Parts: sequence; C-alpha cells; structure tokens
Amino acid sequence: MKKFIIYILISLGYIACEPKNTNTPSENSNQTIPADYALVIHGGAGTITRNNMTPEKERQYLDALHKALDVGEGILKNGGSSMDAVVQTIKILENNPLFNAGKGAVFTHDETNSLDASIMRGSDLNAGAVAGVSTVKNPIMAARAVMENSEHVMLSGTGADEFSNQQGLEIVDSKYFYTEKRYDALRRIKEKDLGFRVVDEDYKFGTVGAVALDENGDIVAGTSTGGMTNKKYGRIGDSPVIGAGTYANNATCGVSCTGHGEYFIRWAVAHDISAILEYTDLSVTEAGEKVIMDKLVKVDGSGGAIILDKFGNVAMPFNSEGMYRGYVKPGERVVKIYKE
Ligand code: ASP
Repeated sequence: MKKFIIYILISLGYIACEPKNTNTPSENSNQTIPADYALVIHGGAGTITRNNMTPEKERQYLDALHKALDVGEGILKNGGSSMDAVVQTIKILENNPLFNAGKGAVFTHDETNSLDASIMRGSDLNAGAVAGVSTVKNPIMAARAVMENSEHVMLSGTGADEFSNQQGLEIVDSKYFYTEKRYDALRRIKEKDLGFRVVDEDYKFGTVGAVALDENGDIVAGTSTGGMTNKKYGRIGDSPVIGAGTYANNATCGVSCTGHGEYFIRWAVAHDISAILEYTDLSVTEAGEKVIMDKLVKVDGSGGAIILDKFGNVAMPFNSEGMYRGYVKPGERVVKIYKE
C-alpha cells in the first residue's frame, strides 16, 4: 500500500511538471491515449516551393486547407462520424479549383476530365470507389454511395456516372470541370512533348485526401483526384484503388496518398503502411518514413501520404518538394505547404 501511495504521489508530481500543450505541435506525435477526435488532410504533393509560389497564392492555399479542416472538425467536435467528416471535408476541397480534384481536375490527353475517388471505413473494412467519372460533381460522394448502396467496391466510367445519377447525387455537364489553368498546363505539357513524365513545375499532383478518427474510435480515409495531366487510354491511378491510394483499418490507421500513382499501386502503399502498424511496433511516423522516404525514394516514386492511427497520432511524410497538408485535434492545429 505504501508503495502504491508513493507511486501515485510521484505520478502526480510528474503530471504537474509536464509542459502544457504549447500550441506549437510537431507534424508527428506519438500518443497512446486516444484523442477525442482527429482529422488530417492533404491537397496533393509535388513541385511546390516558395520560389514558384506568390504570397497571394500561398494565402489562398492556406485558407482553403483551414476551411476544409474547419468543416471536418465541426462535424467531429459535435459527435459526428468520421465518415461524414471525411466526405464533407473532401467535398470542400473538390469544389475548390485550386486542387486537382472535382472542379480543379487536370485534363487527359484527349482534353477531357476523368475523375477518380475512393473511401474506406476502418470499422468493417468496407470500401467504395469510382474511376473515370466525368459528370458527378463530387466523386467522393459517389464513392460513398458505392460503398453504402451497392454490392460492389469499384464502379467505373459511364456506369459509375449513371449509378451516381440514380443515387440522386449532383450531376453536372462535363464542361463544369474546365479550368483555364489546368487546360493551359495540358497544352504546355503537350507542346514540350513531356508525355506522362513529371518533370517540371507544370506538374503538381494536387490530389486531395482526408483521414478522420471520431469519438467512437472509427477511422475513415478518403481520396479524390483528377489523376495525372495528359493521361491516356483511360488510365486509372492509385487514388480509387483500395490498398494503393486509400486504406483504413480501426486496428491500425487510415491512409490517403498522393503522388505518381503507378508507384503507389505497385508498392500497395496505403496498405503497406497499415500492415507495418499491424505486424510491427513501429509508429505512424516510422511506418511513413519506411514506405514514403525509403522504399519509394529508392525507385523514384514521387509523392506523399497522410496517416492517422487509432490514438490520433498523425504523420504526413512526402518525398517531393512540398505537400499541402494539415491536421486538427483538440487543442492542436497544423497547416503546412513546404518542407520546413
Ligand atoms: N495519385 C494520383 C494519380 O496518380 C495523382 C495525384 O496524387 O495527384 O492519379
């Protein structure tokens, strides 16, 4: 008993001396007591440097990321589900032409827009995805509808658009996805005969993603994209592929990726990160380092990921020059673009 009292007194003393939340959180944390809620987002990785950014553009991106976090946090704070938080957060980013998803989707070689999205629920490993859609305004909602209201995991092309229509989702003329900025980027890439290689600042990945943890401990991850500029032959990237661009498991973590999709598919990046947490004692930070900064770097697979575990620990690794990213949890908010 005496020992127990001494232990309690020492513990109380330790807690009293612990620094309070200083509000200068790092990008990586390692807590083992579950957070009430947490939300992490990305708006794409790529050639994003201070040199190719104006202060005004930077402000627009930061504002957009904060707005998305505000919406998702509002839902989680009020006891809403991680599913609603992820869908509504991604919707905000899809409706913003700054990002390569929804309204701001990049152009295919044939000068069309062809969008992909996926969502996964960590409580039961249920998932939904759409690939190559061109008329549903918010592909992330279509992905959710596939998960909740169909017997399938992935629908593609006109069938996926038709399903979205039948589900009562907002349908737009495909011209809705036209933006001058993305069209000019396609023209420049074609003129330079760059094919599909990502070689200059015309190419910023810009896909969007979100992972949320709600008060029930449920993790949901979602990703939405226009794919890669100048894609041909109905090319589909990693974003709608469960295990590649998106993965969630309540027992491990949720992951959403952005980058050169062919590598993320072949290295099964999102699932690989989850598997590391399942089979080892590594943290989200270490798992992210291993896959994004080691395995992918060795093969020149450019991009990044956001990772959120069941305790609310966040990692946002990327091997490109920048990644639009941020997270929020009670008392903490981080939004960043560049490496430092
Ligand atoms: N991963 C996406 C794709 O390959 C592109 C991106 O992240 O921006 O389609």
